[in-house]
Amino acid sequence: MGNKCPQCGAAIMFQGLCLKCQKENEEKAILEMNTEELEEEINNLAEDYDEDRCRLLIRLRGINTEKLARAAWEDEEFDFPPVYKDAPDDVISEMIEELMDDDLGSRKADKLLVCLAHRGGEAVLNAFRELEENPREWRKKLHVDPHVYANEGGWTFDKDGKVTETVFRKCYPVVGKTPKMREKSPVKLITAADGVCECCGTKLVNIIELDGRDKRLKLLGIDGKIALKSCLNCIPYNENGFVRFDLNGWSEIVPEECNSEETDYPDPPDWVDELTENTFALADKAMPEYYPFDDGSGSAVGGFPFWIDDCIIKDCPDCGKPMICLAQLGEDVHGYEGNVVVEVCRGCRVAAVLYQQT
Ligand SMILES: [Zn+2]
Ligand SMILES: [Zn+2]
Ligand SMILES: [Zn+2]
Repeated sequence: MGNKCPQCGAAIMFQGLCLKCQKENEEKAILEMNTEELEEEINNLAEDYDEDRCRLLIRLRGINTEKLARAAWEDEEFDFPPVYKDAPDDVISEMIEELMDDDLGSRKADKLLVCLAHRGGEAVLNAFRELEENPREWRKKLHVDPHVYANEGGWTFDKDGKVTETVFRKCYPVVGKTPKMREKSPVKLITAADGVCECCGTKLVNIIELDGRDKRLKLLGIDGKIALKSCLNCIPYNENGFVRFDLNGWSEIVPEECNSEETDYPDPPDWVDELTENTFALADKAMPEYYPFDDGSGSAVGGFPFWIDDCIIKDCPDCGKPMICLAQLGEDVHGYEGNVVVEVCRGCRVAAVLYQQT
């Protein structure tokens, strides 16, 4: 017979704490570390690099990664690219030098581009522009240009080298609270909306309601209330899923995205009402920009979404400019495996609702 986790009482097949409690305790301990403890941990990790610990420290504490980037570079560790976010100049010079070489393998080029994208800055921008104008041999085996790689690091650039940010550099988790707290929250996830989906007949929901006038949300630059309509049943089928909105809570799904001739839409499900009765509400405390950047990290407004495959930044269908990531919705909210990511063009008041499956 199995055992019980001494912390939460869940039935488990082994002795000791369940995995969920282990994870919670590890995160809690990191959140409680003081400056000296953090510094000591960073120094230890620079000696003995550990990707999982680095990920937690970056996500939860937003640590400066200068030392860790150097350690990762010396060990040729590229599997957690945000560790390069504060890479020192000499490290990025060496990385760029490798990229400039025609003989570099395309797999390594791919990794270096993603890591440098997370670093950003002028030297990286100049290198990416040079590589875009004068592609090296390794480019032939990659699918996209450096300006698309830049998206992985939360920015991109146009032909003139003008940089656009594609993520907000601060984030607020959206977490399970009480019905009363949800009522007062400036961000609500999955609320009832008017109308039914033209593709499948399912009752529409607002995938997110957000009042940008709340002081926590000022950074978003949305001066009003938005409510973005979506069909939960169609999320896995509509690749683009654009929505037009105003700042008074009105929105409309862009109709040409209904693809009924090619897609056999499933019948309306019976779980939509249930999902609208959730208690998710905006957390009071801001978290670092990388907080959402992990599998199972839940929901958040702002910050880097966790992309299961490549990062997708949609171009606005109106102005053609790259959108910015507004929010991530975790699987405990929408019931699908994987993440829903909401992007917006604030100027044109268009949003995109994207879904990536595990
Ligand atoms: Zn437990
Ligand atoms: Zn639908
Ligand atoms: Zn636009």
